[in-house]
Order: sequence, then C-alpha cells, then structure tokens
Amino acid sequence: GRCVVAVDGPSGSGKSTVSRRLAAGLGARYLDTGAMYRALTWAVLRSGVDLTDAGSVAKVAGEVDLRIGTDPQGYAVTADGVHVEKEIRGPEVTGAVSAVAAVPAVRELLVARQRQLIEAAGRIVVEGRDIGSVVAPDADLKVYLTASETARAQRRSAEDAADVAATAADLARRDKLDSTRKVNPLQQAPDAVVLDTTELGIDEVVARLRELLTE
Ligand code: C5P
Repeated sequence: GRCVVAVDGPSGSGKSTVSRRLAAGLGARYLDTGAMYRALTWAVLRSGVDLTDAGSVAKVAGEVDLRIGTDPQGYAVTADGVHVEKEIRGPEVTGAVSAVAAVPAVRELLVARQRQLIEAAGRIVVEGRDIGSVVAPDADLKVYLTASETARAQRRSAEDAADVAATAADLARRDKLDSTRKVNPLQQAPDAVVLDTTELGIDEVVARLRELLTE
C-alpha cells in the first residue's frame, strides 16, 4: 500500500545515504528534493540571469524542463535534456542553491512537482528540508535527522573530497540561509521523530526507522 516517509534535516546529517538505503530496503522509490533545487540552480546559472533578481529566477524556473528519476539505486537528473548529475554537486551550484531555493515562486513550482512525484510513486522515501512540514504533511513517518556540526562537516567533506574547514564554513552559511528564509524554512515538523546521528552508523539509523515504520 501507500507509504510516504519524510526525511528532513540539514546537510551532512546523513539524510541521503539513510533515505536511499531505507527506500531500497522497503522496495520503495526515493526522491532527492535537494537535487531538484540544485538542477534548477544549474539552469539559472546557465541562463546568466542575476541570482538576486527573483522575477528572472522565477522565469527560468517556469521555463526549464526539469526531470528527476526516483530509483534509489541511481537516478538521472536532467535540465532541458542535459544530464546534470555531476554539475549539481559542484561548488558553483552549491554556492548558489540556497538563494535560488529562497525564491517563493521556485518553491511553489518544485513543491507542486514533488507532490506529483510522490502521488505517482505511492511508496516513497522523500528527503529534503520541508518535506514533513510542507510537501507531505500527511506522511506515514516523519524523521528529522541531526548531527553535530563537526560530524556533518566531516561527512560532507569526505563525500565531496573537499577541505573540512571550507566545508564547515559552507554548511554553516547554507544552514543559516535555509533556516532563516521567509518561505518554508528548514523546520522540524511538530510530529517528526528527531534522531541525532552523530554517534550512529547508517545501518543503525536505517534499522531504527524500519522499527518506527512497523510500530
Ligand atoms: O540536500 P541538499 O544539500 O542537496 O540541498 C541543497 C539546497 O537545496 C539546500 O541547501 C536548500 O537550500 C535547498 N533545499 C530546499 N528544500 C528542500 C531541499 C533542498 O530548500 N526540500
């Protein structure tokens, strides 16, 4: 039957790995909403419009053909037919994505798209910043993952093969922008289960979530 799991939290909290594994184990689909904001940001950067001009950013958002797969084992992300899986993890996109994600028209569009993908999938693990609070408030399970700033910076820098100090600074900057923006800020849903993953292995977190699902 239908089963929607919302996994929110700041970057480096272990969301992606945990969500993918949980989805694969459940035989469910997986949606990386951060990848959607990133792909849109790639399109905005390519268009050359001024990032601080919300109207122009919204216009690009309305025109770009954005597609994302939902296979937890690997999903394509394309913008106007161009594969952007690699580019969306690069420093240019990472540096600009929080600004693009703060534009209300961008969020309206992507939230609507995310709801369609969730509806079509039926059984799906969705990760992001506003899934439990805005995108899928009726989710069967809402999880909010946290971890110490140090743990998060270490994980992210290992993933990106980047310097820990630079990664820590970038995470702090993005967290601040994501948590203080006016529309749909990163926020724990009141009914979310909060899990601190600092001292937990991925398998332990996934096992805990499976337990919560069967309770
Ligand atoms: O999760 P990830 O680091 O890929 O997300 C990239 C950025 O996309 C976040 O820093 C945030 O600005 C934005 N985002 C968002 N809402 C989501 C998912 C991501 O605003 N549901």
